[in-house]
Amino acid sequence: MQDCIFCKIIEGNVPTTLIDQNDDLIVIKDIAPKAPIHYLIIPRKHINNVLELEEQDAHLMAKIALMAKKLSQKLSGSQSFRLIMNNGADAGQKVWHMHCHFISGHHVSDF
Ligand code: AMP
Ligand code: ZN
Repeated sequence: MQDCIFCKIIEGNVPTTLIDQNDDLIVIKDIAPKAPIHYLIIPRKHINNVLELEEQDAHLMAKIALMAKKLSQKLSGSQSFRLIMNNGADAGQKVWHMHCHFISGHHVSDF
């Protein structure tokens, strides 16, 4: 998709720090980390957010969870992590290409 920063990263047209990848997803370091470990798990397919998710792409949600499990197994220390998906402007979404924040490395409070 034109003018989508994550599509440009997936196409290799914008530099990034690649953490992992497979046929469905890439994992990159967030450019403005809000925790000691802050990755973004991003489907290669451009989908705006969960509001736009269709039945045929539902497997991507399971793939994201399995990638999070894999990432946690590579952490040193605690394997705890938080997954966050912002869906829509009122939820704080700023990049309109579905992604999941993988956050770890410090104690996070309840909410
Ligand atoms: P969201 O508010 O859920 O849409 O989050 C978008 C996230 O993408 C933010 O945490 C940004 O810091 C991150 N971000 C934006 N541009 C880039 C980029 N070029 N490389 C890595 N992370 C980015
Ligand atoms: Zn995109």
